[in-house]
Amino acid sequence: MAASHCKELSIALAQFPRVSLGHFPTPLEPMDRLSEILGGPRLWVKRDDCTGLSSGGNKTRKLEYLMADAVQKGADTIITQGATQSNHARQTAAAAAKLGMACHILLEDRTGSNDPNYIMNGNVLLDRLHGATVSKRPGGTDMNQEMVALADQLRQSGKTPYVIPGGGSNPIGALGYVNAARELAEQAARIGLKIDALVHATGSSGTQAGLVAGLAAIQSDIHLLGIGVRAPQEKQEDMVFDLAVKTAEHLGTGVEIDRDAVRANCAYVGGGYGIATDGMIAATKLLAQTEGLLFDPVYSGKGLDGLIDLVGKGYFDGMENVVFLHTGGSAALFGYSESFELPGYTS
Ligand SMILES: *Cc1c(COP(=O)(O)O)cnc(C)c1O
Repeated sequence: MAASHCKELSIALAQFPRVSLGHFPTPLEPMDRLSEILGGPRLWVKRDDCTGLSSGGNKTRKLEYLMADAVQKGADTIITQGATQSNHARQTAAAAAKLGMACHILLEDRTGSNDPNYIMNGNVLLDRLHGATVSKRPGGTDMNQEMVALADQLRQSGKTPYVIPGGGSNPIGALGYVNAARELAEQAARIGLKIDALVHATGSSGTQAGLVAGLAAIQSDIHLLGIGVRAPQEKQEDMVFDLAVKTAEHLGTGVEIDRDAVRANCAYVGGGYGIATDGMIAATKLLAQTEGLLFDPVYSGKGLDGLIDLVGKGYFDGMENVVFLHTGGSAALFGYSESFELPGYTS
């Protein structure tokens, strides 16, 4: 990685429209108590939970490019979809509010939970607080088709809708994480830190695809690892690779994507997307109680479970500095309060 590559990447990214929605650069902080407890490499956290928009998260970076594209196309209404406790939906609702656009959110019931907190609290509360129209669909619905149908309907009533795919994961949204790779590399260089590995939760794949393309563009040798939250390994890696290639093409710098740079470990999904696991609960409690950090039940908590387990298994042996990209999501904790049995309350 050389400073000149970062500069070239900045120039390549500057050709794409971008609206300002978040606080950047996000902090990069050591997690020294956790590192001491685990006894492996020094662990750091890249605080993309602090992107600022409606309690933050990784979708803000993607939305800076997606919403700019929507504005450029003259849209007045945003449509997107996600799971009930979607952090992407919440950040999209906030972005639409900030830009004065209407927002329609379609929520797929992927877990079948009837817990009132799951259905109405956490991100769902915030979607509605931001003024979005929320409607639910049963699990297994073709959500892309639902969005197309809604867009047609809105067009007939004179609106100009813009459809954002689930997770904001397409070559436009992924540019946010191409830029994040550059931001992190420059930040580490400023404090003289050599990052050996970068770990994060991977779902709809835009975050990892953007990072893969961004790290390739700056010729970084950081070992990138996604911890899956839904699909099995092969499917997840194929999805990330496919989007990384398309993102690099969209960026137009002629960067080749190496299939070997796409790594996903999908051993921490448990019962399925959005279903709590014991490992996630233990990891989320541990970080709350050793570092004062809030993670989430669907993504970052499972990612952390993977990180902690892999440190114990020696996956990072020989490495000195490992960064966990905190992709946010703590608002979802309020939708999962029943999963956490917490002692220490006396009345
Ligand atoms: C969406 C999300 C992810 C996964 O990012 P993708 O780009 O969809 O792979 C990880 N963590 C949190 C908190 C998220 O909301």
